[in-house]
Amino acid sequence: MGRLIVVSNRVPVPSKAAGSAGGLAVALQSALEAQGGIWLGWSGKTSGVREPEDIEFNEQGRITYAVTDLSRKDVDEYYTGFANRALWPLCHYRLDMTEFDRNDMAGYFRVNRFFAKLLGLMVRPDDIIWVHDYHFIPLAAELRQRGFKNRIGFFHHIPWPPADILFALPVHETIMRNLASYDVVGFQTEHDVENFAGCLLREGIGANLGDGHFEAYGHKFQVGAFPIGIETRAFAEAASDAKKNPIVQRMKTNLGDRQLIIGVDRLDYSKGIGQRIEAFAKHVENNPASRGKVTLLQITPKSRSEVPEYGKMQREVAELAGRVNGALGDVDWTPIHYVNKALNRNTLAGLYRMARVGLVTPLRDGMNLVCKEYVAAQDPSDPGVLVLSRFAGAARELGCGALLVNPYEVDSIANAIGRALAMPLKARRERWHAMMERLLDYDVSQWCSDYLSMLKGTPVQRTPEP
Ligand code: UDP
Repeated sequence: MGRLIVVSNRVPVPSKAAGSAGGLAVALQSALEAQGGIWLGWSGKTSGVREPEDIEFNEQGRITYAVTDLSRKDVDEYYTGFANRALWPLCHYRLDMTEFDRNDMAGYFRVNRFFAKLLGLMVRPDDIIWVHDYHFIPLAAELRQRGFKNRIGFFHHIPWPPADILFALPVHETIMRNLASYDVVGFQTEHDVENFAGCLLREGIGANLGDGHFEAYGHKFQVGAFPIGIETRAFAEAASDAKKNPIVQRMKTNLGDRQLIIGVDRLDYSKGIGQRIEAFAKHVENNPASRGKVTLLQITPKSRSEVPEYGKMQREVAELAGRVNGALGDVDWTPIHYVNKALNRNTLAGLYRMARVGLVTPLRDGMNLVCKEYVAAQDPSDPGVLVLSRFAGAARELGCGALLVNPYEVDSIANAIGRALAMPLKARRERWHAMMERLLDYDVSQWCSDYLSMLKGTPVQRTPEP
């Protein structure tokens, strides 16, 4: 059997992986370890020229990591521009923040051609290729043009928008045509699959052949929902071992007998951080007895600072947290601990476990791994409560135990915080068990093997969604 070749924008080459804050990196790391092959992507560095000869290989056991620098122009147009200022907001239903720039679009397709050229130098006829995320939608079409007949799959980690939103993208037709060049197109949820099917069928672009099979632009391909998971058991162990972690110990001392609410998100407008802080403030205002008794720990590493919208948001969230602390805090109580840096996963695991409430309220999220980690980290004898946005991909799986909220409605979040803090042990345990069962049953290795089964054309063993 041939090798597995994975392509993703960033490649967590082992020595550099520590502290990585992306769900994609975290999930794929476990997936590739089991498989072996090549993992190709951008080094994260810019250099004046980029040539296929400059590719850097790093062999670690059965995996070869292959990375290339990009030029400043490439990064500005392909990554900062089209991927992060057009596709990201568009896929998160934010047409108001979507920038359509022709140079960026051209740069996106140019960089994809360059990666197809690199792949062309490595691929053998029996290799299978698994392309990840919105940075690389055109890759299969580019490879097909070069004559490659390999099985090629694509997994879209972020939401897929409804037709009316996608069609606002000037190159939506090309994007749909590019996706039809894959053998398997995977999404996080059935909802994304429905949206994608809607885009295909709306203007007669494609036909639904039934049972997840579609035809468009003369290609037949399969589409499926594969909700990504975490390494549930390993994460639970890390949380239980984190008692000795000095940061976790310091937080415990600092907290005293106050109840902890935790929020963990990259600084991104899709995460609903502002509404969440307002909801926490509202909870305290509505419940005077909670003053001095509860702390919100909001861990928010900066991300994509080169994109102007993110810089603006950074200031706004910091100001909001400061305002709430000023208005509600006291000499011996700071209601919100706002931390603007990344913590490592073991520390996070310990902090999740200490928190009575996990507050995960994105306005739109492909899956959201933080909520799954929060559940996995809980102490089974005294678990906390997950408050989860109904617009996170994970809501379908975790709706069995989480308190689902509308993240746009501050009152709904504030009420859920109150309910969660007051929930008796028996109810907390029942809810936690239902969620944990699902997470144990469908973890990241199951996700990976399900996807690869479909890509290899072998029967998928399991139904991915409850
Ligand atoms: N994360 C981390 N350190 C931090 C904050 C987040 O390692 O300080 C990790 C977190 O544990 C999770 C991932 O980053 O595994 C975030 O994934 P998620 O799907 O929730 O959101 P994304 O950032 O991919 O949109």
